[in-house]
Amino acid sequence: MTAKNSESVEDRNGILDDDDHMRGMERIAMEVVRITHPFASVARVTGRIAPLDPAPWMPPNQAVRIAVEEPAGQRPVVRVYTIRSFDPATSQIEIDFVIHQDDSPAMRWLKAAKPGTILPMIGPRQHFIPQLSGDKKAAIFADETAIPAVYAMLKAWPPGLRGAAWIETPDREAFDELPRPEGVDLHLLLRSGTQPAGSAQVLLAAALALTDAAGWTIWAAGERIEMRDLRNHLRDQGVARGDLQVLGYWKKGMSSSDLDRVRLAEYEALREQGLTLENVGDIDLPV
Ligand SMILES: Cc1cc2nc3c(=O)[nH]c(=O)nc-3n(C[C@H](O)[C@H](O)[C@H](O)COP(=O)(O)OP(=O)(O)OC[C@H]3O[C@@H](n4cnc5c(N)ncnc54)[C@H](O)[C@@H]3O)c2cc1C
Repeated sequence: MTAKNSESVEDRNGILDDDDHMRGMERIAMEVVRITHPFASVARVTGRIAPLDPAPWMPPNQAVRIAVEEPAGQRPVVRVYTIRSFDPATSQIEIDFVIHQDDSPAMRWLKAAKPGTILPMIGPRQHFIPQLSGDKKAAIFADETAIPAVYAMLKAWPPGLRGAAWIETPDREAFDELPRPEGVDLHLLLRSGTQPAGSAQVLLAAALALTDAAGWTIWAAGERIEMRDLRNHLRDQGVARGDLQVLGYWKKGMSSSDLDRVRLAEYEALREQGLTLENVGDIDLPV
């Protein structure tokens, strides 16, 4: 008998396939066209998809749940990634995988992937983007896992919105590749290659240095604990809830499957109270 895959998240009540959770997302397959390494920390996977409707794939910061392992008799092992770009003319998408040293489901998939590999996915789901908010400037704090989201957002930057972005990466080239819309100042927070991801806390330091925090509308994504500290600090500085979107994209020392189990338990509890997906306050989950 094959051992159970411990990364597969069991959904006993089948709520992940419900409309409230699916929200019109499509089950789709991507065929890998090529994999390149534009710089040391990233594998860029270009793939072809055939969406029913290309329109939902066009706006910036679309996320997909990719099935990186498909154990027999269990739910697929899924991971969340960002669509860095979508070209409706060729139906090609790009996904940047940040390379890390753990023997993890996404890294195993990446090692085995080659042109022709089929990757099942569910999506797209638009994740948060910086909000236009009165005459406030937009601030972005992002580590390398959120650079694809920042790339897509800067490419589609609303004219007239002034802003600043603080980007943590171990690769200067990842920063150099970002679009430069007028009125947005980009700040490189270069982490040394010897410093593990999620330990430098440079995004938190940048947020602590923001003297007029309440004058900004803020979008931030990166390691979960650092992001929670950043969120708490900015709240204390008087940034209004509506001007604060802070996301934990990964957690140091914890697999996304374990995070998803906590998310699912919270979602189940909220549904029992008649609430919906919008009510899951992700960054406040007890992990
Ligand atoms: C909305 C959203 C969008 C995202 N977009 C992207 C994207 O475009 N590109 C991208 O690379 N990631 C992205 N992520 C983050 C990605 O989902 C996680 O990094 C995920 O944990 C990778 O899965 P895994 O199987 O490699 O590792 P897991 O099995 O989840 O974790 C195993 C171990 O690896 C560690 N680990 C996981 N990721 C990293 C990392 N980046 N650096 C160092 N250690 C790590 C964990 O702390 C854990 O100890 C996104 C996450 C969200 C929620």
